[in-house]
Amino acid sequence: MDFGIGGKRALVCASSKGLGRGCAEALAGEGVALVLNARGAAALEATAQEIRERFGVPVETVAADITTAEGRAAVLAVAGEVDILVNNAGGPPPGVWTDWDRDDFIAALDANMLTPIALIQALVPGMMARGWGRVVNITSRAVKAPLPALGLSNSARAGLTGFVAGTSRQVARSGVTINNLLPGSHDTDRIRSLDARNAESKGISVSDQKAQRVAANPVGRDGTAEEFGAACAFLCSRQAAFIVGQNLLVDGGEVNATL
Ligand code: NAP
Repeated sequence: MDFGIGGKRALVCASSKGLGRGCAEALAGEGVALVLNARGAAALEATAQEIRERFGVPVETVAADITTAEGRAAVLAVAGEVDILVNNAGGPPPGVWTDWDRDDFIAALDANMLTPIALIQALVPGMMARGWGRVVNITSRAVKAPLPALGLSNSARAGLTGFVAGTSRQVARSGVTINNLLPGSHDTDRIRSLDARNAESKGISVSDQKAQRVAANPVGRDGTAEEFGAACAFLCSRQAAFIVGQNLLVDGGEVNATL
């Protein structure tokens, strides 16, 4: 299927690795020119070069922390007018509900709620003026089914989800869609570090920890960044123009719910 977005321009935040990279590669596969971002310049440049060579699309890079005002300003200066925005950043640390003070919550809200909102506010007006745009926010399955150890993530992503629910309906008439993609467990550095932490606290091997975790998934494995990216590219497609304000789980069916 031709997604009809060849020649469009996308900003994909936090995209040198993992799910952000998966989204960037899937968009590049559809002929979309990219602006990529991450804090670490070396991995970012390596990813950009691999995508240029594999897909033949223009790729610009901005090494910056997207969760800071300075970082966002640097990214927006290079991005200019984009047609597609993929919001992403690292997830908050795990812990227990009694661990977190105001500063921890402010940091989580900055990273996983206020940063995507700021980028939507910066870029969606231009999309509306041009009559076409796509925003995909990478959130988490924790929005549908809370992960108790990730209380900071549960809280911040719920706030973004509420903002998107209303805003997506206010901008849809201009040809701009905003949707959220909710990853379950995917084979990335993030899930590997959570497995290592949980294995240590239980006194078991990392491979046993992973085996226990994936046994609870109906598909029986972690998702891949490629699978996740394909869902993102579809939400950015011409064909997805009537999908507005939705929360799409990509989790192998792990959230056990009828709707
Ligand atoms: P990952 O494999 O650790 O990759 C994170 C990417 O984001 C890297 O490219 C990293 O590069 C970049 N990044 C992190 N913080 C950044 C910042 N402040 N500014 C700019 N770039 C930043 O993580 P992932 O698994 O792809 O997860 C992506 C998001 O999905 C996270 O919010 C995570 O909580 C959420 N999520 C993941 C899963 C999963 O199973 N993987 C499940 C649910 C939710 P630098 O470190 O160089 O900046």
